[in-house]
Amino acid sequence: MTKALIVTVRDWWEAQPQPPQIETVHLVVGEFTCVEPASLQFAFEVQTRDTFLSGAQLVIREVPLVAYCAACQQDYRPTVGQQYACPTCDRPMAEIRSGRELKIERVECSAPLEAPLETLGR
Ligand SMILES: [Zn+2]
Repeated sequence: MTKALIVTVRDWWEAQPQPPQIETVHLVVGEFTCVEPASLQFAFEVQTRDTFLSGAQLVIREVPLVAYCAACQQDYRPTVGQQYACPTCDRPMAEIRSGRELKIERVECSAPLEAPLETLGR
């Protein structure tokens, strides 16, 4: 997972006319993706060492798992221990509203270190 994430950022970064210094990568991770934010943080740190992302921070925003029950016509927060069933009617989870997200929300960059040539002098 971390590799795919880094490749995505690199592709974007390489497509920039002046590749900026990336400071922060914001990631959205759904509760239902089985991705452990702490281990993702660790893997990111290890795998970006001595790369263009060296020193960049990974900020993870967790999205809770929310399911929809058609019988009750309501959203609910499933509990893992209860096999994700609807708390009202006990039907198994059929529709997931959110919690499957795993994507890069945005990338923060510092300003380029040097001004573009044309803005120097008069
Ligand atoms: Zn229900």
